[in-house]
Amino acid sequence: AYTLRDILTKTVTDSGAGPDKIALTFDDRHISFAELDDRSDRLANGLLAAGFAKGDKVAVVMYNRPEWVELFFALAKIGGVIVPINYLLAASEMEYIFDDSEARWIAVEDTLADAVKPALERNPTRTVIEIGEHSGLGIAYENLVRTPAGSTAAFPEVRADDLFLLQYTSGTTGFPKGAMHTHSTVLWNSYHQIVDFDVAADDVYYVVPALCWAAGFHDLALATLWRGGQVVLGRSTGFDPGAFLAQVERHRVTKVLLVPTVLKRVLNHPDFDGHDTSSLRMVLSGGEPVPPSSLEGLKARLPHCDVLQVYGMSEFPTLMLFITGKDAQERTESTGKACSAATVRIVDESGQDVPAGTIGEIICRSPACMVGYYNKPDATAATLADGWLRTGDLAKHDEDGFVFMAGRAKDMIITGGLNVYPAEIERVLAAHPDIIEAAVVGKPDDTWGEVGVAQVVVRDGVQLDHHTVETYLRERLAGFKVPRMYHFTTEPLPRTTSGKVQKHRIST
Ligand code: ATP
Ligand code: MG
Repeated sequence: AYTLRDILTKTVTDSGAGPDKIALTFDDRHISFAELDDRSDRLANGLLAAGFAKGDKVAVVMYNRPEWVELFFALAKIGGVIVPINYLLAASEMEYIFDDSEARWIAVEDTLADAVKPALERNPTRTVIEIGEHSGLGIAYENLVRTPAGSTAAFPEVRADDLFLLQYTSGTTGFPKGAMHTHSTVLWNSYHQIVDFDVAADDVYYVVPALCWAAGFHDLALATLWRGGQVVLGRSTGFDPGAFLAQVERHRVTKVLLVPTVLKRVLNHPDFDGHDTSSLRMVLSGGEPVPPSSLEGLKARLPHCDVLQVYGMSEFPTLMLFITGKDAQERTESTGKACSAATVRIVDESGQDVPAGTIGEIICRSPACMVGYYNKPDATAATLADGWLRTGDLAKHDEDGFVFMAGRAKDMIITGGLNVYPAEIERVLAAHPDIIEAAVVGKPDDTWGEVGVAQVVVRDGVQLDHHTVETYLRERLAGFKVPRMYHFTTEPLPRTTSGKVQKHRIST
């Protein structure tokens, strides 16, 4: 079967890229396709010699570095399952995922070893692979790679529908869940990206997000390698907009994905125009609502560049909807239309398509969708029904079929029988000059069922009161949407490590 391992070998032989072409760049290190293929072969052999069995899960606790990518391909070659771990999680949160995924191996970078030690003390049966300094916690990664490249014929047979990846959700709405992806679903993700984002051999894709996130490796990085292009790995710690712009100039980067918070920092960098960014052809942003002002700001600075918003999730990593070109300029608030590999609908509670302008839930059918949540049959049944993925996200579409996000279904407030979408109110609040950000949540109420409560983060030194904010909202929104209660604070909203607001942690 055609599986992920074929990306390296077929690229080298078929695409004309040539084995000596640079696949991966990290600081001053350049790794060719041949080297990446060879090192992942050796690593695969080393793992097998160390007792690795097909289907074993390997939790990966690493900052962005080439070993992450080598391990990805080594596991692809021998039927392993990669479990990317967000290194920003607390030790107990990591342990939750080690247990939930039943990881038999933990690949950990030296500087992150402390975070995995508590889990190892409680469960010493796992084998640790140490990357970097060898402290005796487990097997040294470089020793595994030193294993002579044996015959790949000894590799277990891998099928396209074998499990390959457990992509844990961010845990915005509760405990993270392991979205199961096979070789096939991951390949479909990359394949549609090649088609939809014109990924070509002359592309230089710069990875800003941490590789462990859904938007890390499977967004364009893998697709770029597949086409024989070059991937430049950014450091995933302490993002520095100036250093980023310098790297774009140095490597002539053509494509990049910047989540909204990072995009803002790049735009606000005082020396943006001092760098040569003319190589950039495409900048993608998404993962959470993208402020239209950021998209417009970037377009104004990079008129030659396609600036586009994307929407996706761990269950579909991660470009299910996107908007590009002139469409994106005309509709900066839209996340666009379905990618080439997906059929997307917006439906009401009975599963009927909603007319233009009416809010419903986004559902999707695609060979790129996850095949279920690991060990969570109830959550899987609630999410995947009749071949459709229920995203839990609300949206409406206009007459031309462009989608506009309206927040998460879980966040919707029903007050006096009317649906209120917090995202809409939050947008209006955030546009107030004295308000930095805001979150609106529902509170049970005897008369109305639920009423809205707003957590309002005000700028330092500013005084705002209930009456002022309520009047401001009433001038802009229907009365039933206006929250009844307001909490003013200067503390930022509670967020996940990837920057998403955690509504369930906001007190009412
Ligand atoms: P959990 O499922 O554990 O609660 P999560 O949904 O935040 O966490 P991810 O899979 O990382 O975990 O994030 C996907 C979600 O991010 C989408 O379902 C959607 O709610 C949100 N999202 C992604 N892109 C956009 C976008 N462009 N605009 C608005 N929301 C977006
Ligand atoms: Mg989710």
